Amino acid sequence: MNAESTLARLIYPTLGRGNPAEDSDDETWRWSALCAQSDPDEFFPDKQGRGGSVQAKRVCARCPVATECLDFALENHEEYGIWGGKTRRERRALRSTRAVAAAS
Ligand code: SF4
Repeated sequence: MNAESTLARLIYPTLGRGNPAEDSDDETWRWSALCAQSDPDEFFPDKQGRGGSVQAKRVCARCPVATECLDFALENHEEYGIWGGKTRRERRALRSTRAVAAAS
């Protein structure tokens, strides 16, 4: 099991679950995360981008909280995994685009 796979097994099972008494209002989107019903490894392609991302993106495309998930990943500078249907590289590009738009 590589580091990305270990992270997947730690992070993705927490999505799709929640405790209303513990979660803040801005984290309730996690309760509806579709990836909680999928193989976590699919959401963590290896460093070369191999494995999983195509299937993960299919799941994200059907996820009712993809927008919230992507916003969370961008705000928290998530470096690993697929979030909101976007790879790390795609999120970096989005962050750059948003930074340029905010500066103009
Ligand atoms: S958008 Fe994808 S990674 Fe995010 S919660 Fe939904 S299924 Fe999971």
